[in-house]
Amino acid sequence: MFSLTPSHIIQYLYCPRFTYFEYVLAIPQYEEKHVKAMKGREIHDQRLEQNKDYLRRRIGVKEKFLDQYLTNEMLRGRIDEVLLLKDGSYAPLDYKFTFFDEKIYSTYKTQLICYAVLIEENFFGSVNKGYLVYTRSKNKLVEVYIEERDKEKVKQSANEIFEIIENNFFPKATKYKRKCLSCTYGNVCIK
Ligand code: SF4
Repeated sequence: MFSLTPSHIIQYLYCPRFTYFEYVLAIPQYEEKHVKAMKGREIHDQRLEQNKDYLRRRIGVKEKFLDQYLTNEMLRGRIDEVLLLKDGSYAPLDYKFTFFDEKIYSTYKTQLICYAVLIEENFFGSVNKGYLVYTRSKNKLVEVYIEERDKEKVKQSANEIFEIIENNFFPKATKYKRKCLSCTYGNVCIK
Protein backbone atom coordinates (compact mmCIF):
# COMPACT_ATOMS: atom_id res chain seq x y z
CA MET A 1 0.00 0.00 0.00
CA PHE A 2 1.36 3.44 -0.86
CA SER A 3 1.61 6.11 1.82
CA LEU A 4 0.14 9.58 1.93
CA THR A 5 1.83 12.95 2.19
CA PRO A 6 0.47 15.92 4.18
CA SER A 7 -0.75 17.30 0.83
CA HIS A 8 -3.10 14.33 0.41
CA ILE A 9 -4.58 15.04 3.83
CA ILE A 10 -4.85 18.79 3.16
CA GLN A 11 -6.65 18.19 -0.14
CA TYR A 12 -8.99 15.67 1.43
CA LEU A 13 -9.90 18.04 4.26
CA TYR A 14 -10.58 20.79 1.73
CA CYS A 15 -12.99 18.52 -0.14
CA PRO A 16 -12.98 14.69 -0.14
CA ARG A 17 -13.84 14.71 -3.83
CA PHE A 18 -10.44 16.21 -4.66
CA THR A 19 -9.01 12.85 -3.61
CA TYR A 20 -11.46 11.01 -5.86
CA PHE A 21 -10.90 13.15 -8.94
CA GLU A 22 -7.13 13.26 -8.62
CA TYR A 23 -6.32 9.71 -7.49
CA VAL A 24 -9.22 7.59 -8.74
CA LEU A 25 -10.03 9.36 -12.00
CA ALA A 26 -6.46 10.72 -12.39
CA ILE A 27 -7.57 14.24 -13.31
CA PRO A 28 -4.67 16.45 -12.20
CA GLN A 29 -5.22 19.74 -10.48
CA TYR A 30 -4.18 22.79 -12.36
CA GLU A 31 -0.94 24.22 -11.00
CA GLU A 32 -0.07 27.72 -12.09
CA LYS A 33 3.39 28.47 -13.45
CA HIS A 34 4.09 31.06 -10.80
CA VAL A 35 3.40 28.47 -8.07
CA LYS A 36 6.12 26.28 -9.56
CA ALA A 37 8.48 29.26 -9.75
CA MET A 38 7.80 30.06 -6.11
CA LYS A 39 8.63 26.51 -5.10
CA GLY A 40 11.99 26.79 -6.84
CA ARG A 41 12.75 30.01 -5.02
CA GLU A 42 11.73 28.48 -1.71
CA ILE A 43 14.20 25.64 -2.13
CA HIS A 44 16.95 28.19 -2.73
CA ASP A 45 15.96 30.19 0.36
CA GLN A 46 15.71 27.03 2.41
CA ARG A 47 19.37 26.24 1.90
CA LEU A 48 20.31 29.69 3.15
CA GLU A 49 18.03 29.79 6.15
CA GLN A 50 18.25 26.30 7.53
CA ASN A 51 21.84 26.67 8.54
CA LYS A 52 20.96 29.26 11.17
CA ASP A 53 21.20 27.90 14.66
CA TYR A 54 19.18 30.37 16.70
CA LEU A 55 16.49 28.03 17.92
CA ARG A 56 18.24 26.42 20.84
CA ARG A 57 18.34 29.75 22.64
CA ARG A 58 14.80 30.84 21.81
CA ILE A 59 12.78 27.77 22.77
CA GLY A 60 15.12 25.64 24.81
CA VAL A 61 15.92 22.84 22.42
CA LYS A 62 17.93 19.97 23.88
CA GLU A 63 18.65 18.39 20.54
CA LYS A 64 17.54 18.79 16.97
CA PHE A 65 17.44 16.40 14.05
CA LEU A 66 17.61 18.03 10.64
CA ASP A 67 15.84 17.06 7.45
CA GLN A 68 14.09 13.94 8.71
CA TYR A 69 12.30 11.72 6.19
CA LEU A 70 9.83 9.70 8.25
CA THR A 71 7.22 7.10 7.36
CA ASN A 72 4.63 4.92 9.01
CA GLU A 73 2.02 2.57 7.57
CA MET A 74 -0.16 5.52 6.46
CA LEU A 75 1.94 8.63 6.02
CA ARG A 76 5.29 9.89 4.85
CA GLY A 77 6.92 13.28 5.10
CA ARG A 78 10.17 15.19 5.10
CA ILE A 79 10.42 17.36 8.20
CA ASP A 80 12.78 20.33 8.22
CA GLU A 81 13.64 19.81 11.89
CA VAL A 82 12.55 17.49 14.69
CA LEU A 83 13.22 19.18 18.04
CA LEU A 84 13.72 17.42 21.36
CA LEU A 85 12.47 19.89 23.98
CA LYS A 86 13.52 20.31 27.59
CA ASP A 87 10.41 18.52 28.90
CA GLY A 88 11.26 15.39 26.90
CA SER A 89 8.58 15.91 24.26
CA TYR A 90 9.30 16.40 20.58
CA ALA A 91 8.12 19.07 18.14
CA PRO A 92 8.29 19.43 14.36
CA LEU A 93 9.59 22.69 12.96
CA ASP A 94 8.79 23.81 9.46
CA TYR A 95 10.21 26.79 7.58
CA LYS A 96 7.79 28.97 5.64
CA PHE A 97 9.48 31.12 3.04
CA THR A 98 6.87 33.79 3.28
CA PHE A 99 5.58 36.56 5.53
CA PHE A 100 3.60 35.91 8.69
CA ASP A 101 0.23 37.60 8.24
CA GLU A 102 -1.03 37.21 11.79
CA LYS A 103 -2.87 33.93 11.30
CA ILE A 104 -1.93 30.29 11.08
CA TYR A 105 -3.37 28.73 7.96
CA SER A 106 -5.16 25.44 8.49
CA THR A 107 -2.98 23.90 5.78
CA TYR A 108 0.16 24.71 7.77
CA LYS A 109 -1.36 23.30 10.94
CA THR A 110 -2.46 20.10 9.18
CA GLN A 111 1.07 19.65 7.89
CA LEU A 112 2.46 19.97 11.43
CA ILE A 113 -0.13 17.50 12.75
CA CYS A 114 0.90 14.94 10.11
CA TYR A 115 4.50 15.43 11.19
CA ALA A 116 3.46 15.02 14.85
CA VAL A 117 1.93 11.62 14.04
CA LEU A 118 5.09 10.57 12.22
CA ILE A 119 7.42 11.78 14.98
CA GLU A 120 5.48 10.01 17.72
CA GLU A 121 5.81 6.71 15.90
CA ASN A 122 9.42 7.09 14.86
CA PHE A 123 10.92 8.83 17.89
CA PHE A 124 8.76 7.07 20.52
CA GLY A 125 7.88 10.32 22.33
CA SER A 126 4.89 12.62 22.61
CA VAL A 127 4.26 15.67 20.44
CA ASN A 128 1.91 18.40 21.63
CA LYS A 129 3.16 21.39 19.69
CA GLY A 130 4.94 22.37 16.52
CA TYR A 131 6.74 25.44 15.25
CA LEU A 132 6.59 27.53 12.11
CA VAL A 133 9.41 29.89 11.13
CA TYR A 134 8.47 32.67 8.69
CA THR A 135 11.69 33.61 6.99
CA ARG A 136 10.36 36.79 5.37
CA SER A 137 9.18 38.15 8.73
CA LYS A 138 12.66 38.15 10.29
CA ASN A 139 12.41 34.44 11.07
CA LYS A 140 9.37 34.93 13.25
CA LEU A 141 8.83 31.79 15.30
CA VAL A 142 5.19 30.77 15.89
CA GLU A 143 4.15 28.01 18.27
CA VAL A 144 1.20 25.84 17.21
CA TYR A 145 -0.56 23.59 19.75
CA ILE A 146 -1.42 20.08 18.63
CA GLU A 147 -4.06 18.11 20.50
CA GLU A 148 -4.79 14.39 20.56
CA ARG A 149 -8.00 14.95 18.60
CA ASP A 150 -6.00 16.71 15.86
CA LYS A 151 -3.81 13.64 15.45
CA GLU A 152 -6.86 11.35 15.49
CA LYS A 153 -8.49 13.44 12.78
CA VAL A 154 -5.45 13.08 10.53
CA LYS A 155 -5.38 9.30 11.05
CA GLN A 156 -9.10 9.04 10.37
CA SER A 157 -8.72 11.15 7.22
CA ALA A 158 -5.90 8.89 6.03
CA ASN A 159 -8.14 5.85 6.44
CA GLU A 160 -10.93 7.56 4.54
CA ILE A 161 -8.54 8.47 1.72
CA PHE A 162 -7.46 4.84 1.41
CA GLU A 163 -11.14 3.85 1.27
CA ILE A 164 -11.68 6.25 -1.65
CA ILE A 165 -8.58 5.19 -3.58
CA GLU A 166 -8.66 1.44 -2.99
CA ASN A 167 -12.41 0.94 -3.31
CA ASN A 168 -13.19 3.68 -5.84
CA PHE A 169 -15.52 5.16 -3.26
CA PHE A 170 -17.17 8.38 -4.45
CA PRO A 171 -17.33 10.66 -1.39
CA LYS A 172 -19.84 13.31 -0.48
CA ALA A 173 -19.35 16.86 -1.70
CA THR A 174 -18.01 19.44 0.71
CA LYS A 175 -20.60 21.04 2.99
CA TYR A 176 -19.15 24.45 2.18
CA LYS A 177 -20.68 25.32 -1.17
CA ARG A 178 -18.65 28.49 -1.57
CA LYS A 179 -15.59 26.26 -2.14
CA CYS A 180 -17.28 24.96 -5.29
CA LEU A 181 -17.37 28.42 -6.85
CA SER A 182 -13.65 28.50 -7.61
CA CYS A 183 -13.00 24.76 -7.74
CA THR A 184 -10.79 23.34 -10.49
CA TYR A 185 -13.09 20.30 -10.63
CA GLY A 186 -16.24 22.40 -10.89
CA ASN A 187 -16.92 21.28 -14.47
CA VAL A 188 -16.73 17.55 -13.74
CA CYS A 189 -18.30 17.46 -10.28
CA ILE A 190 -22.01 16.88 -9.83
CA LYS A 191 -22.90 18.69 -6.62
S1 SF4 B 1 -16.98 21.33 -7.01
FE1 SF4 B 1 -17.29 21.43 -4.78
S2 SF4 B 1 -17.84 19.32 -4.18
FE2 SF4 B 1 -16.94 19.21 -6.23
S3 SF4 B 1 -14.77 18.80 -5.91
FE3 SF4 B 1 -14.99 21.03 -6.06
S4 SF4 B 1 -15.23 21.74 -3.95
FE4 SF4 B 1 -15.62 19.54 -3.95
